[in-house]
Amino acid sequence: MTTITEQQTQTQLNMFNRLGTFNHEQIVFCQDEATGLKALIAIHNTVLGPGLGGTRLWMYDNEESAINDVMRLSRGMTYKASLAGLNLGGAKAVIIGDNKIHKTEALMRKFGRFVENLHGKYITAEDVGTTTKDMEYIKMETDHVVGLPESMGGGGDPSPVTSFGVYMGIKASAKHVFGNDSLAGKSVSVQGIGKVGGHLIEYLHKEGAKIYISDINDEVLSKYAKDFGCIVVPKEDIIGLDVDIFAPCALGAVLNTENIEKLKASIVCGAANNQLADETIHGPMLMQKGIAYAPDYLVNAGGLINVYSEHIGYNREIAYGSAEKIYDTLMAIYKKAAADNTYTQKAANELAEKRIHDMMLVGSTY
Ligand code: NAD
Repeated sequence: MTTITEQQTQTQLNMFNRLGTFNHEQIVFCQDEATGLKALIAIHNTVLGPGLGGTRLWMYDNEESAINDVMRLSRGMTYKASLAGLNLGGAKAVIIGDNKIHKTEALMRKFGRFVENLHGKYITAEDVGTTTKDMEYIKMETDHVVGLPESMGGGGDPSPVTSFGVYMGIKASAKHVFGNDSLAGKSVSVQGIGKVGGHLIEYLHKEGAKIYISDINDEVLSKYAKDFGCIVVPKEDIIGLDVDIFAPCALGAVLNTENIEKLKASIVCGAANNQLADETIHGPMLMQKGIAYAPDYLVNAGGLINVYSEHIGYNREIAYGSAEKIYDTLMAIYKKAAADNTYTQKAANELAEKRIHDMMLVGSTY
């Protein structure tokens, strides 16, 4: 039998310090030699409800990167669920491995067993590196999984609801900046015409917006130019385009010190996660330039809203109804940011934290 060395005890102490950095409740290390499973489930905060967040399967360079990622992502879920007004906490899981080599039915089902052992404190879903099929395997071991296909009573692809939420965000931003939420005649540039960007274009087109698009996939660009009259622009020109609204719907960290200087849009509102390379630098920078920035984690919450709806018994109308509320929440954020003379991302974070704090008080009398 091996003994616990001083170094191991020190590592444990460091882990507790790290849990304290973002005030995480729990991190579960899952290890199974037979299936090769190495996974981490981080439960950040369950004041509002069970922690819901996808399972990412990724070949991390080292364990340190996996721990950092799962902690950062699970905390982000707490804020997203709170601001979306859902009775959900924040959590996330990562499985360390190569999608093409390590992912098997046995591995996913074993992971499902670990999820089951948390008795509903953590609810999993699809994320980068996992698919609806993987959720079906997990479902064989636990009911604490969402993002199942419609044929299994799930909500199917969440992207259309995400697009609708972004559309609501764009309309609220137009109301805030132009005094009117009609997008007729407004120019909008959309970066990334994937699952979310594509549906968003349909909404924008219906309202008579003038749409500029960029993507790395030429086929998709030709299709949207033909079907919706979008104007294709080179991908390096999309951020600095002279338009009313810029909608980043491709990658994270698209806005940095250099390209914010070039931004001509009055509004930035899109689906991409973590659009600001550094929110404490680029949030204030956008504010100083007088650009209305719609916090990404609010306007792209439609996907989470859709899976939450699945958790409580899927109803498409209710999911869209909740996503519609993104409009009012964003108006409240613009109002708060102006009143506090601060940037919108900070105002959003404060509203999310306030809701968690207030609901803790509700719990205190039960
Ligand atoms: P997707 O993979 O379907 O689409 C992304 C598109 O961006 C692709 O067409 C890709 O070719 C394009 N792209 C990649 N690099 C580009 C570049 N440099 N310039 C221009 N285009 C580029 O992804 P999606 O599901 O549409 O999600 C879009 C973004 O929204 C992602 O950041 C995602 O994390 C975020 N998001 C999506 C959802 C959802 O429900 N799908 C929910 C919340 C957040």
